[in-house]
Amino acid sequence: MPDPKVVIVGCGFGGLFAARALRRAPVDVTVIDRTNHHLFQPLLYQVATAGLAAPAIAEPIRRILGGQKNTRVLYGEVQRVDVAARSVILEDGEALAYDHLILAAGATDSYFGHDEWRAHAPGLKTLHDAFEIRRRVLLAFEHAEREHDPARRAAWLTFVVIGGGATGVEMAGMLAEIARHTLKGEYRRYDPRNARVVLIEAAERVLPPYPPELSEHARIQLEHIGVTVWLGRRVSGIDAAGVQLGGDLSGSTNRTLFVFGFGVNVPFKQRFFADLGYRFGHIASKSTDDETLSSIPTQRIILGAGIRF
Ligand SMILES: Cc1cc2nc3c(=O)[nH]c(=O)nc-3n(C[C@H](O)[C@H](O)[C@H](O)COP(=O)(O)OP(=O)(O)OC[C@H]3O[C@@H](n4cnc5c(N)ncnc54)[C@H](O)[C@@H]3O)c2cc1C
Repeated sequence: MPDPKVVIVGCGFGGLFAARALRRAPVDVTVIDRTNHHLFQPLLYQVATAGLAAPAIAEPIRRILGGQKNTRVLYGEVQRVDVAARSVILEDGEALAYDHLILAAGATDSYFGHDEWRAHAPGLKTLHDAFEIRRRVLLAFEHAEREHDPARRAAWLTFVVIGGGATGVEMAGMLAEIARHTLKGEYRRYDPRNARVVLIEAAERVLPPYPPELSEHARIQLEHIGVTVWLGRRVSGIDAAGVQLGGDLSGSTNRTLFVFGFGVNVPFKQRFFADLGYRFGHIASKSTDDETLSSIPTQRIILGAGIRF
């Protein structure tokens, strides 16, 4: 009898650890990812701010799992899961059969229903995002050097980071470091240390999941290295002219050039559960509330645990 087929969708932390855990199991593993690399997301901000090169945080999946005999790696994007047929459907319509499915497709950015903000405020989840942010940041300093008008130059040198979670705090801190140290002395028309970095957080403190004293410590450190921290202020609009805070247009950021959005969305899993008639939340439950995930008895479907919901 052939070994059971395990399909793992996504090779981030969750998918990779699942594949590794199965390396000696009598199963036939297929790992599918829409990129060809495993990415160490916690250091993405370093690539986005030119502190690290991409290969330092990304490794070809094929190379990582190449020596694992029971595993093959496929480059492809899973569009949906056909639970009845026990197969995943790829972008070109190919169906890939499974006996057990591990969904570890991670998260994407959430713009809280405002996808039009994306063009002005790139998120930071992929290498592509990091390259785009790096391009915009470095070019802003170049444009500022060519700008004659002081107000317009100040606008090029204003960076707004939205969201005071770990990523936003790291990004804001790195931008301030670049302006104050990395680029010091490299421009003639202005002093990069005068660049303005604003971190906007809707909650009353940065790093809300952490103990209040650590949040306060982080805020003080950020202010110390030159970041302006705005707490309790919710962004209600983003366009090419700036950021809108509540009804207060641009919140005095003038013409802000760069904004980064940081929310979390899990569209793949939401879609998957919707297909099954399940609601998506902290725990999957059927609308009637009388059944749980274990009420899908016919097959084992494991959700990647790399993200907290
Ligand atoms: C900037 C940043 C900083 C972070 N810092 C920290 C930190 O300091 N500490 C910490 O603990 N956590 C941190 N995290 C969170 C941590 O990186 C995530 O929790 C973790 O990566 C989630 O792992 P995962 O396997 O669920 O998803 P991911 O690592 O996102 O992997 C998902 C994989 O699925 C693939 N994929 C998605 N959809 C499809 C599809 N339809 N078909 C095929 N493949 C698909 C993607 O290409 C990706 O390779 C950070 C995250 C970010 C973005």
